[in-house]
Amino acid sequence: MEKFEPFSPPIVKMYVCGLTVYDYMHIGHARTFVVFDSIKRYLRLRGYDVIYVQNITDIDDKIINRANERGMAWKELAEIYIKDYMENLKKLNIKVDYHPKVSEHIDDIIEFIKILVEKGHAYITKSGSVYFDVSSYKFYGELSGRISKDMWDQEEEFVYEKKNPYDFALWKAAKPGEPWWESPWGKGRPGWHIECSVMSTKFLGPRVDIHGGGQDLVFPHHENERAQSECVLNVRPWVKYWLHSGMLMIKGEKMSKSLGNIISLKELFKKWDPRVIRLWLLSAHYRRYLEFSEESLENSRRILDRFLRASQLLSRMIKSLEPAHSISDDEILVIRNIEKTLLGFHKALSEDFNFAEAQSALNQLLGIIFSSVSHIENSAVVIFAYKALKDMNEVFGIADREFLGEIPIEQGISLDSLIDLIVEIRSELRKRKLYDLSDVIRERLSLLGIQLMDKKEKTEWFIREQQKFTKI
Ligand SMILES: [Zn+2]
Repeated sequence: MEKFEPFSPPIVKMYVCGLTVYDYMHIGHARTFVVFDSIKRYLRLRGYDVIYVQNITDIDDKIINRANERGMAWKELAEIYIKDYMENLKKLNIKVDYHPKVSEHIDDIIEFIKILVEKGHAYITKSGSVYFDVSSYKFYGELSGRISKDMWDQEEEFVYEKKNPYDFALWKAAKPGEPWWESPWGKGRPGWHIECSVMSTKFLGPRVDIHGGGQDLVFPHHENERAQSECVLNVRPWVKYWLHSGMLMIKGEKMSKSLGNIISLKELFKKWDPRVIRLWLLSAHYRRYLEFSEESLENSRRILDRFLRASQLLSRMIKSLEPAHSISDDEILVIRNIEKTLLGFHKALSEDFNFAEAQSALNQLLGIIFSSVSHIENSAVVIFAYKALKDMNEVFGIADREFLGEIPIEQGISLDSLIDLIVEIRSELRKRKLYDLSDVIRERLSLLGIQLMDKKEKTEWFIREQQKFTKI
């Protein structure tokens, strides 16, 4: 565990490797994208300004081959799957700030490769391809821990053009029937890895706080991205935190294209609400594998159902209850229990985004809402529960519509009187020497920009200048 310290807080720059659009998106992709969307959401909940980029690989060997098989243009094929990808992101409530496409950044890619050639990190072959020379970058292999220099000679897939077996193509000379662009090295097209270095630099600048992707991308993709970026940008580390989401399993086997056991999203959507799928994808620690089963989805369906019922119940209660002016011991206990679930939720996510633990905190909160809050006629307690549920939704993203807008207070009740009420309740807690709880309230208000000052007679409050940054 280490402290999260982005390069320039409160900004967090996030880049996630997106989809190669030669086939329909499947649940393996969905897991990666849902996980990183929720990581982004959690950071935003904690006050960071996150910029989130997820690229689209629309030129690639697989796309060209498939388009040729089907006798269609590569662009036409890519468009079909880009449409599918975008629709799925929408259904799963994944929000991306920028979706750069490779085909729209060819000039930038050429400029980037030129620098690598000028600096002696890349070489041009007779055929007009350009390769990155891994021996020119002494940190190669450190990210994945996958290779050592002694192994170089043993590597089997030695291509005759390369100087070292791990050298990889930055620019591929055009073969007949392939799309091509003019370049200083002749007609050709970019290799795969270079696009992410180029597009992340274009959208996020020379340093990236979080770079994400599925576990299968660590080597060679991320290892290569890192090598070429650090060589061009003269920064080290280029990426502060590398995060890799775990794989999906089915009946004890890894879900993979080669085993032919991948479940398509299309099939899944026929039976399950996308919100159920989203919640299920967030039911394990992001780095661990996640086992697919109908039962586990059924379990997520039950949680979603309870979640939606709880949010409706609390909204209704808030609308019908009069503002509270006092609070009983029993009610304090309920607030305390809600606070405990919130602390558990934050602890789970602050410690390496443990979504499994965060979901168990959510279940506890739902339990408290149905067993206790539903019988309480104190608006302060209900609002507290509502806020807690809303915070959890900020991360899980399953009921954004239900939580649109702020607390559903009838018009006419001012923010001032609401804060007065909270401060009053806190004073009551202090009188009863419940200092830990009163401190929590002070802290939570402070996060919202409301500062309390305890004076002899009473507590005063004021609204601070907008302060968005909170450290995790
Ligand atoms: Zn990438």
